[in-house]
Amino acid sequence: MNSDAPTFNELRPAFHQSLVRAHIVHSCVNCMDFNHQDETCELAKVRPPANVVVFGCPKWTPDIPF
Ligand code: SF4
Repeated sequence: MNSDAPTFNELRPAFHQSLVRAHIVHSCVNCMDFNHQDETCELAKVRPPANVVVFGCPKWTPDIPF
């Protein structure tokens, strides 16, 4: 076994970010209606609860990368 190989916990942040960026997982942070400046939902006008930030809601709409 190669002890220099990265652990899953070392690889996990980049793996998670790639899933979010590819819209494979839905989250407020990859939703078109999320205001990244103040971390609020533009539809609800509030900061969503943690479970909604992580999993999104039925109104989730993919952000546009331009
Ligand atoms: S996923 Fe839902 S709660 Fe989150 S920003 Fe988008 S519309 Fe708002």
